[in-house]
Amino acid sequence: MCDFCRIVNGEMDIDLVYQDELITAFLDYEPINEGHVLIVPNVHVGSLVDVPDEAIVRMMWLARKLIKRFEEIYRTDGYTLMNNGGSAGDLDHFHFHVFPRFEGDGFGWLDSGAEHDHSCRIVDLLREGL
Ligand SMILES: [Zn+2]
Repeated sequence: MCDFCRIVNGEMDIDLVYQDELITAFLDYEPINEGHVLIVPNVHVGSLVDVPDEAIVRMMWLARKLIKRFEEIYRTDGYTLMNNGGSAGDLDHFHFHVFPRFEGDGFGWLDSGAEHDHSCRIVDLLREGL
């Protein structure tokens, strides 16, 4: 059983923010900024494509509520909502990171600097499968 499943089952000492029958949210123990929350589906799945529809809707619902709370509590300049999937992920239990953002807080994209073509071909390929 993974650490997030243990958290969902109440088997780990964490700072619980929210829990219902579909999702669980708790403070990240290594926050980017104070208030950094992880939102996970209660089922163990690794990819967004495997998260049950009702759970992903609930996760987005909670993310929006948390972003509003960040604004109220911190008077934020913005927020970040993100997920890393597959081998880019840090754990094999799907999760959203959501945290408040402030001008000059230093968090941002890590750009490799590599040049990539802006291909019109990919637009057609993406549209075909939708
Ligand atoms: Zn898990």
